[in-house]
Amino acid sequence: MVTSDCVFCRIVAGETPATVVHETATTLAFRDIHPQAPVHVLVIPKAHHADVAALAVADPGLAGDVLATAAAVAAAEGVAASGFRLVFNTGADGGQDVFHAHGHVLGGVRTGPMVAR
Ligand code: 5GP
Ligand code: ZN
Repeated sequence: MVTSDCVFCRIVAGETPATVVHETATTLAFRDIHPQAPVHVLVIPKAHHADVAALAVADPGLAGDVLATAAAVAAAEGVAASGFRLVFNTGADGGQDVFHAHGHVLGGVRTGPMVAR
């Protein structure tokens, strides 16, 4: 039974498959379906918040959990020392497509300029 219109809530519920690489009581990390770097993992709060700004206002502790999980993912993926980019696209100008807060952990490549010109 589909319980949500939100694709990431469906992944949390186990209704949509995903390659999970890390899980805590409050967060989930899984590989992006269209990876843009050798390491491309999405880190989300299990609870639904539309974007990282709403998450930070509603539950700062949970926002911290997401950051801690992103750091643990970077270490587990072997990019903590080489470096990585942690991106939270937010809203239309931020290029956000999925409106369930998520951080992209991008690594294994020199990521280049932060903003395309
Ligand atoms: P945004 O553009 O919102 O920052 O990023 C959304 C990301 O979610 C995109 O990189 C996209 O490839 C990824 N994505 C969208 N749907 C799915 C899905 O069903 N499974 C997984 N693993 N990734 C998804
Ligand atoms: Zn959701």
